[in-house]
Amino acid sequence: MRTILESPKALAKLLGKQNYRADVTYRLMTFVVQTPVDDGLLLFNNMTKQMVLLTKEEQQVFEQQPSDLADLISNWFLVPLDHDDCKLSDQFRNVARMIEQPKQGITSYTIMTTSDCNARCFYCYELGQSRRPMTEETANKAADFIIRRCEGNPVSISWFGGEPLYNKEVIDLICNRLCDANIEYKSSMISNGFLMDADTVKQARDLWKLENIQITIDGTEKIYNRVKAYIYKGVNAYQRVLDNISHLLEAGIFVNIRMNMDTHNADDLERLAQELHERFAESKYLNAYLHLLFKDELHHKGVDDDLKRPVLLKKMKQIQDKLQDWGMFRTNYYQPFLRTNNCMSDNDSTVVIQPDGYITKCEHYTDSQHVGHVDSDEFDAKMIAYFKEQGEPPLEYCRHCAKYPLCIFLTSCPHYKECYPEMPAIFVDEMQQEMKLLYDNYLKKEKETASSSESEGRREV
Ligand code: SF4
Ligand code: SF4
Repeated sequence: MRTILESPKALAKLLGKQNYRADVTYRLMTFVVQTPVDDGLLLFNNMTKQMVLLTKEEQQVFEQQPSDLADLISNWFLVPLDHDDCKLSDQFRNVARMIEQPKQGITSYTIMTTSDCNARCFYCYELGQSRRPMTEETANKAADFIIRRCEGNPVSISWFGGEPLYNKEVIDLICNRLCDANIEYKSSMISNGFLMDADTVKQARDLWKLENIQITIDGTEKIYNRVKAYIYKGVNAYQRVLDNISHLLEAGIFVNIRMNMDTHNADDLERLAQELHERFAESKYLNAYLHLLFKDELHHKGVDDDLKRPVLLKKMKQIQDKLQDWGMFRTNYYQPFLRTNNCMSDNDSTVVIQPDGYITKCEHYTDSQHVGHVDSDEFDAKMIAYFKEQGEPPLEYCRHCAKYPLCIFLTSCPHYKECYPEMPAIFVDEMQQEMKLLYDNYLKKEKETASSSESEGRREV
């Protein structure tokens, strides 16, 4: 058995090795994903983050009598038949949280420059909420807050809205203030991209230190222009946004295209993927992925339906496979550490600053559930605790899902129960692809190391 990815040292120390017991029957841990490769069989444990390769011979033993492979037991790939895998994963995470170093300052900020937008998407979850821009006065207070609360640490900002570029003056103001205060920062953005013209891209790269941007495109030209329903007349918004994406890619800013899928646009998204490939195939800064819209999410109807959903998921996989072949899509499930936070809601080093200066922990709670205000350093401890509250796994199949160690169930999250019966299989499929890529990288590095030590050897001779 060869280790391809080590378990992170702290995790390995925390968990220790599992002792072999002659009196029990062993089975594969729920969180282990397996996939064959030319050299044998890869096994990845999503809880310990360890990946190993079994040779062809070991694979045969594994298929007939896995418990003969003692290393698989000591490294938690195999566990006793009656083992509670989810309980161990929960305990493991709780201990990891307890020994985690306390965070220094608030270093990650989502700033809503405005709740107004230049598009009128029918599915927007912000529909019906008040449309208000951040004023210059509030932007100055937000900058003061960041300067005070980051405690001299580098800061990450995510610009959010509404449409953040619809009030880009406050982005300039906050960035200039951080520069003047010698605060190191970088930023990302979620935008529709319409206002990201060539001059704005320069500003974004040079002043905002924008490293990546997520842009949603829900269809090809006709569908996109209809769905977005921009307030501007006589402009081909689709072509304009694609032009803007070109400017971003040329500037070396990473663009992540999100394609929302529902029953109305499924076929069109395949055409969109093709168009994106034809236009941006050369760029290494572009990623594209599909997101299935849920019935309860986004004032929308129709997808959370047991008959329609499997059809849509099948379509989604076909498109994602193509994107993957073109090098435009890859998952990023493997992280060399144990996930102890779900998102900004349960992370003490992040906050959301709203256009009116109120602070919350989740961008979905704009008109309520505030934890503080940029005017003050006081936080409402009860509200902070509310955002951290965890619930039971929402669905009965969670306990049989290999993704479980990556899921943290926050009861305040509007997406708490948004999963579907096909998800465990989708995760396994995507993880298998990712494992193959991780293994390819391992082989590449191994080859590079071998050839550099060979040339070192030749030089010495
Ligand atoms: S929420 Fe979905 S992905 Fe997470 S453990 Fe449950 S079934 Fe798996
Ligand atoms: S929507 Fe859910 S995942 Fe997103 S920030 Fe809010 S609580 Fe976190």
